[in-house]
Amino acid sequence: MQAISVRQPWAFAIARGGKTVYNHPLPTAYRGPLLIHASMRVDLGSCDSPLIRSAGWDPRDPLATLGAVIALADLSGVCSRAVQGGDCDCGPWAEPSAHHWRLANVRALPRPIVALGRMEPWEPRPSLVAKVHQMLATTAAEQGH
Ligand SMILES: [Zn+2]
Repeated sequence: MQAISVRQPWAFAIARGGKTVYNHPLPTAYRGPLLIHASMRVDLGSCDSPLIRSAGWDPRDPLATLGAVIALADLSGVCSRAVQGGDCDCGPWAEPSAHHWRLANVRALPRPIVALGRMEPWEPRPSLVAKVHQMLATTAAEQGH
């Protein structure tokens, strides 16, 4: 399992708003489950952007928090066409000067799990991974009844 720390409100947009592209200066060979961690930094200038508004940004939402894991996704692929000057079909969230980490199967956590993040992609502790799986399993069970 890997994790990425993303500034708010972008982390929220992944968890709740259908943002399925993570823009990063570097590609990665990793594919598989990816924890979405809201970092301690906020991109204040973006909170009023049309994209973020379209994602339903709500500062009162529990997942609008800082310094916590808020979602689990699958990293299904990385598109590097934009950095090579080409066009791609990654959609409105994709930035022209970044590698597009494509996220699938995004599951928002029912509540945030406080954790320290890092600037670069990081490997979460087994205890954190266990907590995420337990929380999502409980939620699935509750939804099944
Ligand atoms: Zn792309």
